[in-house]
Amino acid sequence: MADLSRVLPEVREFLAGRPVRMYIGGKWVEAVEGGTFRTLDPGDGTELATVAEGRAADIDRAVNAAREAFLESGWATMPVRDRAVLLHRLADLVDRHRPALAQLESLDVGKPLTAAESIDIPNVAQTLRWYADLAVRTRLREPIAVSGYEAWQVRMPYGVAAFILPWNFPLLLVGWNLAPALAAGNTVVVKPAEDTPLSTLYFCRLVEEAGIPPGVVNVVPGFGDKAGAALAEHPGINRMGFTGSPEVGRQIAAACGANLVPVKLELGGKGAAVVFDDVDPVATARQLVGAITFNTGQVCCTATRWLIHERIWEPFVAAAREMLSAVKIGHGQESDTQMGPLVSEKQRARVLGYLEKGLATGGEALLPGGRAEVPGHPCGFYVRPAMLTGHPDNICARDEIFGPVAFLMRFGDEAESIELVNRSPYGLANSVWTRDLERAGRVAVSLVAGNSWINGHNLFPHGVPYAGCNLSGMGGGVLGPETLMDYLRPQSVVRPLE
Ligand code: ADP
Repeated sequence: MADLSRVLPEVREFLAGRPVRMYIGGKWVEAVEGGTFRTLDPGDGTELATVAEGRAADIDRAVNAAREAFLESGWATMPVRDRAVLLHRLADLVDRHRPALAQLESLDVGKPLTAAESIDIPNVAQTLRWYADLAVRTRLREPIAVSGYEAWQVRMPYGVAAFILPWNFPLLLVGWNLAPALAAGNTVVVKPAEDTPLSTLYFCRLVEEAGIPPGVVNVVPGFGDKAGAALAEHPGINRMGFTGSPEVGRQIAAACGANLVPVKLELGGKGAAVVFDDVDPVATARQLVGAITFNTGQVCCTATRWLIHERIWEPFVAAAREMLSAVKIGHGQESDTQMGPLVSEKQRARVLGYLEKGLATGGEALLPGGRAEVPGHPCGFYVRPAMLTGHPDNICARDEIFGPVAFLMRFGDEAESIELVNRSPYGLANSVWTRDLERAGRVAVSLVAGNSWINGHNLFPHGVPYAGCNLSGMGGGVLGPETLMDYLRPQSVVRPLE
């Protein structure tokens, strides 16, 4: 068992549930088939909790509960302001329970507690409030000016919105995905990642306490090929949102296609940072080191390809090497940890496998990376950050690694940098670093992706849409005003005038 001596009493009590149950129709229930699975502390490789394992029968129960709540709980039909009040209450509870939620998130994902406390959990509350307020301001009935008819359009919630979510930002992504769906009046079924189900389940306690009607939020933990596949294939869902890998995204889109269920996919990326020679190489290296080590590199939009102008290559590489070598790697609960472990042994094997393949096929190590030993935590899934360079077709320059591995390339001019970035089949997020804002704007729109950032990376203000194109996703993004509309089906009403 993981060392829980330092956790809050409410967290200890929650983890002691044997199993931690799923939340369906406002009730805490065990799996129909009685199965359970273990979730680990990646910092120690030890068991954190036993969790009820949902399968097809549990998904069926959850979808039915969500359908019933959509039709009968009053959630979908109540005035938007009343729903917004409940979502604000939920946001306040997330803030009040931030210490417990952050501890759970840090323990389950391995991320530093400080990051969970200052980034993940506050963001959930902010997203809930942002969509609650947007829904209140959004006109749901618009007259349509046409000759000879009285016509108007209304926006109605779809019904049951299903979500399959990943393990890198479990609760933050619950916020990004559920907030617009709920604010629009849908009910939801969530299948969190098997590696990190805990914060999403704890969140259901707050849903209950906020007074959100039973069945509006349902959470079924379990594995992708069982619970996940059953949810994606379920004919009773009206919308699907998926965040994860392109491989699984394809399967989910195919399952939804068979039922003609609209699907939103937020997939991987291979983000580039294009660094021109008019910036301070040391300050920019600090920013990119922060990006590649953030969440131990397990961030789909982070800067993983660093394109450095040839005139500042040497000082940039020297500074980045020094800073990456100094990153404090440790258990997420230690206050001085800057980078925690990877989420699982499987993920560590993937990252180390990529390093090996990249080097075996001509890549050169500017900083070798590899397994990291953390005193006192011999079985944690730790790695050291790495920097490679080499041919732009190297596997480490092409594939999403999902770990603290940067691939560096030199460029001579603007056109070359754009060509290098756009070689990727992904299209999620890139950044441009220069003091010349005209050039920044020009390059920003030439990079084919859903998001371009200037002199920063991983920028997510609420209200700025975030989406991917090509291999990185489809179906509309998250965080923008349009996201609320994605959960409201348009319906027009027409009457001939006499
Ligand atoms: P990662 O590679 O980052 O683990 P995945 O795309 O495999 O990302 O997982 C993201 C989510 O998709 C998780 O909740 C996982 O359980 C789920 N999942 C995995 N395989 C399937 C599948 N075949 N059908 C539905 N969901 C799946």
